[in-house]
Amino acid sequence: LPENDPASQRITDELYGGGSEERIAQELLLGIGGIRALRALGVNPHVYHLNEGHTVFSTLERTREAMQEGGLSFYEARQATGAGTLFTTHTPVPAGFDLFPEPLIDTYLGDYLEQLDLETEEFMRMGRVNPESRDEDFNVAVLALRQAPRRNAVSRLHRRATARMMQPGWIGFPLGEMPVESVTNGVHTKSWVAPEMQQLYDHYLGPRWQEDASCREAWQRVERIPDLELWHVHTRLRERLVAYAREQAAWRARSQAGAGGLGVPADLPLRPDTLTIGFARRFATYKRATLLFRDVCRLKNLLLDEARPVQLIVAGKAHPRDGAGKDFIREIHDIVNREGLCNHVVFLEDYDLNKAAMLVQGVDVWLNTPRRPNEACGTSGMKVVPNGGLNLSVLDGWWAEAYRPGVGWAIGEGQEFIHADYQDEVDAESLYSTLEREVVPLFYQRDADGIPRGWTAMMKDSIRVLAPAFSGDRMVKQYAECFYLPIADRCWRLTADGFAKAKEFSAWKRRVRKAWSDVRVTWVKGGPVPDMTVGEELEVQAKVHLGTLDPSDVVVQAYFGSLRPDGTLRSGRSVPLVWMGCENEEHLYQGTVPGRASGLHGYAVRVLPCRDDVLVPNELSLIAWEEAERS
Ligand SMILES: *Cc1c(COP(=O)(O)O)cnc(C)c1O
Repeated sequence: LPENDPASQRITDELYGGGSEERIAQELLLGIGGIRALRALGVNPHVYHLNEGHTVFSTLERTREAMQEGGLSFYEARQATGAGTLFTTHTPVPAGFDLFPEPLIDTYLGDYLEQLDLETEEFMRMGRVNPESRDEDFNVAVLALRQAPRRNAVSRLHRRATARMMQPGWIGFPLGEMPVESVTNGVHTKSWVAPEMQQLYDHYLGPRWQEDASCREAWQRVERIPDLELWHVHTRLRERLVAYAREQAAWRARSQAGAGGLGVPADLPLRPDTLTIGFARRFATYKRATLLFRDVCRLKNLLLDEARPVQLIVAGKAHPRDGAGKDFIREIHDIVNREGLCNHVVFLEDYDLNKAAMLVQGVDVWLNTPRRPNEACGTSGMKVVPNGGLNLSVLDGWWAEAYRPGVGWAIGEGQEFIHADYQDEVDAESLYSTLEREVVPLFYQRDADGIPRGWTAMMKDSIRVLAPAFSGDRMVKQYAECFYLPIADRCWRLTADGFAKAKEFSAWKRRVRKAWSDVRVTWVKGGPVPDMTVGEELEVQAKVHLGTLDPSDVVVQAYFGSLRPDGTLRSGRSVPLVWMGCENEEHLYQGTVPGRASGLHGYAVRVLPCRDDVLVPNELSLIAWEEAERS
């Protein structure tokens, strides 16, 4: 806006632009400004869903509002706003999070923190993995984890990666108990499916798939579509993509000719009936756009096969500052020119939504080659599914949970190696051999009518199984049921009666934190338990010192599972122990651990803060395990 000063105008100039200073300005505008914009529009939701850490400053603005409204302290108000917040992380590696040094926080947030009654150092602690370590910068994702007791990752595999990143903040908690859940992304089916496919579905599936794309019964009816019809529609879509890619290539050749380039080539690139592989994405290095080009000889054999040729359409954009990503594009370009593959590999410039639609609707195979476990979810492969394309992908992100034989192909076996180059080697080998032995033969195996029956069967399996599971409708339902509704309920309970429960909860948390260093498991009966038989139960007794806390402030559990050779517990399950009485300031607890399977098993007794009416499990990252020798 012209009335803003030049510095303010520049804040929204460029997405992902600039350095930390521009980033923090952008995030403050998004978070604090975003909430103020909603208020100006009269929008006052109960539940706020933070997409990535960049949005986290919105929780500060909401806390400030609640402080004013209820006359609350920051920590009291925060219980209420936290209860109404869901934080979704999309980042698979710690390097993906924004970090801000203290002077920047001070400059940009100093005055604002005063309104929140917070000192800069107090606030810095909320953004450090280890609050005590003063040389740690402020991490917005860490603040988001602390501000939102409900959190989720965007695929099951990404939940594991996120749990590993969170572990330093939950010392003593097993990896399996990190308080983070997962909702795998989905795509908005109707937006991505080609009109011709849409007609086919309307005819054979009925209206249900349009109303609710997560309806499995509707997609079951894919079996009713005659192979011939499915194949003809798909073929038309491939032809359209090829025509489009030719047009683009010709247009580019003409513009280069005008600029003193090589002139328009005599033959048109690509063929309408050739097995067409699509590869399109941001050229982030972990996506390994050049994996298929690793062994040029083997790639040429695939592309140039007379009887069973393959062609490749590549599209993408590198981040303006991602030099390695830009090198990928250059490398592909160089190989294609040097090896004379221009008619078999086409690069589409300026990847955008329209090009993406054209691609996902027309390809036979969608290739994705991320270096596991770097793909948090990945969505473009899902867009291909209702269009009848088949996925050929590394078992990473969504594909790690979606893949099963018959719905597409897996590259590799889900291994992760320490040495990136070795991983690339193993995955490239798997990619080539899957193409050579499975993908290409199946595509060109035609019956008397020219229909690849094996291929169309696979298309149908992919659509039937994957289209409902990876639809946006499934995702939204899951968010509503697992998060939005319970979060709204909890937020309502904490804000009711002038924030009564928020105040009580805040006071309770403070009391528990202060008292926790005195909480100890002082005695556990018996030793570790070798070779329990299935169905057998084991009695557990423990004595616990709670200091100034009451049994109603905690839960005492036996955590049990199989033992590693070194005697430590693998991830397991827990059962609550029952309070039996108190003697000499020691509380006696008792319960039984079920025998689950043969082999070496063990259990350990632990104490966690607990308050049934308000607490999210593990919300306070406090835990006390038995330490004493057992007798
Ligand atoms: C779907 C899509 C993406 C994201 O694809 P991923 O597989 O999730 O990386 C990026 N850009 C465009 C234009 C898209 O349509």
